[in-house]
Amino acid sequence: MDSLALPLVKNPRDVLHQVFGHSAFRGLQEDAVSHIVDGGDAVVLFPTGAGKSVCYQVPALCRNGVGIVVSPLIALMRDQVEALRQQGVRAEALNSSLSPEEAAGVRNLLRRGALDLLYVAPERIMTAGFLQLIADVDIALIAIDEAHCVSQWGHDFRPDYRELSRLAELFPNVPRVALTATADPLTRDDIVERLHLRRARIFATSFDRPNISYTIVQRSNGPKQLLGFLERHKGESGIVYCLSRNKVEKTAEWLTEHGVPALPYHAGLSAQIRSRHQDAFLKEDAVCLVATVAFGMGIDKPDVRYVAHLDMPSSIEAYYQETGRAGRDGQPSEAFMTFGMGDVVQRRRMIEEGEAPEEIKRIERGKLDALLALCETTACRRQTILRHFGEAHPGDCGGCDNCLSPAETWDGSEAAIKVLAAIYRTGQRFGAGHIVDVLVGRETDKVLSNGHHTQAVFGKGDELDAKGWQSAIRQLTAQGFIAVDTAGFGALHLTEAARAVFRHERAVTLRKDQPRETRRALRRALAEDMPPPAAALFEALRAERSRLAKAQSVPPYVIFHDTTLRAMALARPGSVADMAELPGVGDAKLRRYGDAFLAVIRTAL
Ligand code: ADP
Ligand code: ZN
Repeated sequence: MDSLALPLVKNPRDVLHQVFGHSAFRGLQEDAVSHIVDGGDAVVLFPTGAGKSVCYQVPALCRNGVGIVVSPLIALMRDQVEALRQQGVRAEALNSSLSPEEAAGVRNLLRRGALDLLYVAPERIMTAGFLQLIADVDIALIAIDEAHCVSQWGHDFRPDYRELSRLAELFPNVPRVALTATADPLTRDDIVERLHLRRARIFATSFDRPNISYTIVQRSNGPKQLLGFLERHKGESGIVYCLSRNKVEKTAEWLTEHGVPALPYHAGLSAQIRSRHQDAFLKEDAVCLVATVAFGMGIDKPDVRYVAHLDMPSSIEAYYQETGRAGRDGQPSEAFMTFGMGDVVQRRRMIEEGEAPEEIKRIERGKLDALLALCETTACRRQTILRHFGEAHPGDCGGCDNCLSPAETWDGSEAAIKVLAAIYRTGQRFGAGHIVDVLVGRETDKVLSNGHHTQAVFGKGDELDAKGWQSAIRQLTAQGFIAVDTAGFGALHLTEAARAVFRHERAVTLRKDQPRETRRALRRALAEDMPPPAAALFEALRAERSRLAKAQSVPPYVIFHDTTLRAMALARPGSVADMAELPGVGDAKLRRYGDAFLAVIRTAL
């Protein structure tokens, strides 16, 4: 009699539209969703911002029972639950931040079948208590978010994730979905293996992030170069990564003194300060967060407009992951890095002094070499990054410094021979600085005490200045002719490949280091062509969003994304019905916020 008691499977497109306000699925979302709705296991490999969440959230709402989501970070859960509630979804999280009473309340809702989605920490889901609790509950699916945490090849290995392999036998009839933005093939295979997902269908899309542009420059004065870069991101949110806590503090201070409001974030700060700074970053519109890599995982802020690295990261994987925190909303965003030979030496030292077994160290060295090659390349950066992940790209992307302002090259064979000779003749025991001194003929104490001023190559490098030689050394390292000493003091030695250069059997092409006019070109490429009246309305809508967000103490983007506000500013909807047509406006948000934003649009007319 009561038709509501019948199992009710909803149509995925309706759910997507009514709940999330999206008019159509993107890319492989629809295939993945229907596969999961039909009860299949899946591995979803999309880059950040491509829309992985839809792949489990929509099936969870279509199928009977609660969708259980394993998620590694409390901050991430809190954000997603908040965003879902705003959309009218019955979502909760179960983690250590809840009081016993709150946790009991959530368990109660779960038992009563009153939840659509439940986010759970990995260390909690496999406890006897929780497993018993869900044994009697209808489960729509189990999603394992940030699934790369199961692999020690990845960058965020978490031992608790290993336990999740047991889910396969415990819940043989519940679809399992593993999701990650990790592009590295080693980690991907490991996920399938460790989570017992060999029978799962794999949904993988291109890892290109077309809305992110890449610029990598040699460091001359890091902070100043950064400040120049930040000029084009006034009033926007972004992240600046530094290697050490000390540098994080100094950089944040320096930026603030120079008119860029910046906050530090690193593991050495108290939990209270960290959470205050993270909150400011999430909830205010224009904070520059200066951080060590301790910050970022699980930060779901969609409107991060730039990610800058003042120091070289550890690998292309890490660089891709960290820069990937920009532009999740699909709007133009920038990645910027400064690097120098000192970084390579420092990173090498970190590898060699680390505790990892030799076979892991070998992998880490290889990854560092690949990153240096990316920094030094004159080819398209996007193509180089994607090739590293096994993906073909035609190059000439129009969105990296090398494409926007191609570097000039020169035949550096003779220069290369001079460098190699200087290294060889000084016994392959010295770092780049000393080799440069020898080449340009500086009579330093070290040169004199070692008698290097008597070498034939001493002072023979007049075609380049010291900076030019530094650059040549880095490029030769990136091209594999020079290796940085494994003992960690940065001594350079020749590789097997160097022989052919010595014998004139192999030509070496080097890049000319001229200041390039990338900045203006990039600015043009990124120009957001909103006519001035729309731009003014966009700012007014953003202000309204800030007000509403502050009142509820939630991040602005859980109300509406920039993308939605931009669409609103351009379309100027005059009614609730018009507004419902915009991207990112679902039923719940329309009811809650429609009038407030319509009022702003009306007063702007
Ligand atoms: P990921 O987890 O893959 O990084 P998210 O699931 O957070 O990505 O989604 C990224 C952004 O894309 C979000 O702003 C989301 O609202 C939006 N999005 C996802 N799917 C769609 C879709 N089908 N149409 C429009 N926007 C979408
Ligand atoms: Zn390019």
